[in-house]
Amino acid sequence: MRQYVQESGRGGRSGLKSEAIVLRAWWKRKDGSVYREVGHELELSARKFLEGDRCRRTYIDEEMDGRKDRQRCEPGEEKCDVCQESPGGIKRAAIDEVQEEREEEAVERAKVKRQEEEQKVRERMVAITMEQRRIEIGQRRKVEQRGYE
Ligand SMILES: [Zn+2]
Repeated sequence: MRQYVQESGRGGRSGLKSEAIVLRAWWKRKDGSVYREVGHELELSARKFLEGDRCRRTYIDEEMDGRKDRQRCEPGEEKCDVCQESPGGIKRAAIDEVQEEREEEAVERAKVKRQEEEQKVRERMVAITMEQRRIEIGQRRKVEQRGYE
């Protein structure tokens, strides 16, 4: 990771625009499965950097300076490919995951609310049944009292 950052950083020293390209070896095996040579042997920070689920500068800052509060490329910086795709600095797939989590939470909230409403209906039914019994008992007493009169 450090090697990559140092080498790619040299490209910008002249003040001219430069582009760092990482080549990864992928090939299909005879059984059709895809094999990625680079990635399995790499250190975690480098692998995450290459996968690029979020702004690539966040990985570089964490690795080189221990900075963890960066969210995306900042004003005045050349935007990395992830930030060019998404101004929030998070790749579409990662946003979709967050969205899915929110949808799951909403479904769960709706379920809890429905259960609460069902409970209220059950309590109301019990209250109505008890009220009916009270009325029935009251009427029976009246009938019994008339019988004595
Ligand atoms: Zn970025």
